[in-house]
Amino acid sequence: MTGKTPFSIEFFPPQTPAGVDKLRTVRGKLAELRPEFFSVTYGAGGSTRERTFETVFEIQRDGLEAAPHLSCVGSTRDSIREILAEYRQAGIGRIVALRGDLPSGVQDPGEFRYANELVEFIRGETGDTFRIEVAAYPEYHPQARSPLDDLTAFKRKIDAGANAAITQYFYNLDAYLHFVDACRKLGIDAPIVPGIMPVVSFSKLARFSDACGAEIPRWMRRKLEAYGDDTDSIKAFGLDVVTELCEKLIASGVPGLHFYSMNQAGPTTAIVERLGLAG
Ligand code: FAD
Repeated sequence: MTGKTPFSIEFFPPQTPAGVDKLRTVRGKLAELRPEFFSVTYGAGGSTRERTFETVFEIQRDGLEAAPHLSCVGSTRDSIREILAEYRQAGIGRIVALRGDLPSGVQDPGEFRYANELVEFIRGETGDTFRIEVAAYPEYHPQARSPLDDLTAFKRKIDAGANAAITQYFYNLDAYLHFVDACRKLGIDAPIVPGIMPVVSFSKLARFSDACGAEIPRWMRRKLEAYGDDTDSIKAFGLDVVTELCEKLIASGVPGLHFYSMNQAGPTTAIVERLGLAG
């Protein structure tokens, strides 16, 4: 591959005015790295609707490309139609289309059960207005009945009109390479961009990984546990491990990297700079 590997950066919409100010500063710093786009998550059932809009539109007003996430579970067709109209009018050109997760205790999935139905709906309503990215799971989605079922579900999203995928984060390179290989054998030729999670805190990462089914390899877990409260060592170790993972991914020819920034500038900046990807 020639040229620098493109990369994108993900934020979640802040909950407080202080969080909004902080994200503005973080975004300013990360913008200097020249990512391809910033994406902004969206709470299932529309729980962050206004905050996602505000964050997305602010990024766009600053002249940068913003890709809102849109999750469909717990939503009606009318509510999704309204959101698509807002984004279309605002000139948004890219959407990350997801199912999302119902909050515990909520039973009613609304009018969409799976993300492929959302992709199909977006294409039906808006044609080629949006580039659509979907989620993919190198270590397989925790609710999937089998790896093959999950691959088939992923293929349905691509067949419904998604252009590309961003993966759940992983620390095991082989999981990603095997997944891409399995996809190609099934005839899925869309770009599959690895999701990259910098390591900044062991307890948060462990909680997160348990919930989303991403594995922290035992050797990493043991080392991170052993650092205890020594956050500097955790960060230094995390930076080395994740940079090396990215280097190997780039060497394997990945179409891009997507950083889960957790609304922090430091960890993503350090990795991008070490990789020499800053624009
Ligand atoms: P789907 O592709 O619909 O798959 C969900 C599960 O259902 C899988 O186990 C799949 O195998 C199975 N499945 C699919 N179709 C069928 C079928 N027809 N029959 C039986 N089983 C089926 N969540 C948010 O709430 N907001 C966000 O902004 C957000 N952003 C994300 C960004 C990325 C890059 C990733 C990787 C995840 C993100 N998530 C987000 C989390 C995501 O919503 C959850 O992982 C969710 O559980 C699955 O969403 P999905 O779009 O992958 O669902």
